[in-house]
Amino acid sequence: MNFSLTEEQKMLQDNARKFALNEMLPTIREYEEQRKVNHDLTKKMGELGMLGIHIPEQYGGAGYDYTAAAIIWEQLSYVSWSQTLNALGHSVLAATILYLGASEEQKQKYLPPLCRGETIIAVGAVEPAAGSDAGAIETKAELVRDEWVINGTKNFITTGGTADTVLVLCQTDKSLGWKGTALIAVDANTPGFSSHPISMIGDLAGDLCNLGFLDCRVPRENLINKVGRGLNVSLHGIDSARLFIAAGALGMTQCCLDACIKFAKERSQFGKPIGSYQMIQDTIASLAAELMAVRWQVYYAADLKSKNLPHAKELSAAKILASDLAVKASEQAVRVHGAYGCTDDYPVARHYRDAILTTILGGTREMHKLTIGRELLGLDARS
Ligand SMILES: Cc1cc2nc3c(=O)[nH]c(=O)nc-3n(C[C@H](O)[C@H](O)[C@H](O)COP(=O)(O)OP(=O)(O)OC[C@H]3O[C@@H](n4cnc5c(N)ncnc54)[C@H](O)[C@@H]3O)c2cc1C
Repeated sequence: MNFSLTEEQKMLQDNARKFALNEMLPTIREYEEQRKVNHDLTKKMGELGMLGIHIPEQYGGAGYDYTAAAIIWEQLSYVSWSQTLNALGHSVLAATILYLGASEEQKQKYLPPLCRGETIIAVGAVEPAAGSDAGAIETKAELVRDEWVINGTKNFITTGGTADTVLVLCQTDKSLGWKGTALIAVDANTPGFSSHPISMIGDLAGDLCNLGFLDCRVPRENLINKVGRGLNVSLHGIDSARLFIAAGALGMTQCCLDACIKFAKERSQFGKPIGSYQMIQDTIASLAAELMAVRWQVYYAADLKSKNLPHAKELSAAKILASDLAVKASEQAVRVHGAYGCTDDYPVARHYRDAILTTILGGTREMHKLTIGRELLGLDARS
């Protein structure tokens, strides 16, 4: 057991924190107010090797393990988890899917430009009637001669408006359930493809879209992996996304804690700094205690994943605990700041708006509890 970061991990942590403070913090408010995506951020991240951190160097990635990746994602999310999601989420979700599921030719085609920040690849799994129950998807893919013809709708797709390509989870034969699923790459310039921006409670500098596919025809070779493996292959990416979300939630919580400590020393009421009152100290100390514990759970799950060891329940626990803590920390941080916390003059309002999102994507709290329950009890509540 080793509870210290290596020198290399400390260096990555430090660099990522500096990047967040120097490249994201100065402009995040402007992008959020104007509801704009910061495209330059992805390019800069590509130049610095922050995209595809866990992707092997032969495909353009940085070749680090998942623990290093979690440390970096945590630091970037200190400023904004949702902007981090938009800038590099595709290098977590789509890149993992392609690395673990695509053919050698497809990896060479898609991964190097993605890791350089030149192209964005979104993943469309969720649909109006298929959220947590991904096996219920209805987007239809039909093989007509040498082309897939795709029809359907995808909801809440990250980078859906800016992606060059979307990996679309399709159904080839509804009677087969998840065994009929196929993952197919659709370029955004394919006739019949459309994207429709949606507005959320948070993610103000984001690019969440609903996508439409109307008789979209793409070459047969755009199939990733095999028919019948679409859902399995997608889940590889979703597993990495869960770690990204948990690590990001740590970063948001740390920012809320730091902001509370600073504000509680600066703000005086009744003739004393509010930080001198025991109830304020209780809030700050309790958040710090929970953060210390949850951070190790996230790093532990990352370590198991890096070593290719079973990690489903550990990662589910990390995802539940970290995202719930970010919600709690941001809510308490807003209260510690009083009305000032409800303005954008302090960082806590941003995390308050974004934290709730981390409890939903990558599997809801309830679904992760069912994963842990299934492993402990040997009973699947969903079947
Ligand atoms: C910021 C953001 C980004 C996203 N990006 C993407 C993306 O890039 N690609 C993509 O495909 N999707 C994306 N999503 C969609 C996301 O994956 C889904 O929102 C998520 O899987 C949950 O599905 P749902 O919203 O339809 O909720 P539902 O599945 O309808 O769930 C609603 C509620 O019912 C509960 N519930 C459902 N089933 C059970 C059960 N068996 N037992 C107990 N409770 C249950 C859930 O826990 C939840 O509380 C994104 C979502 C967000 C918020």
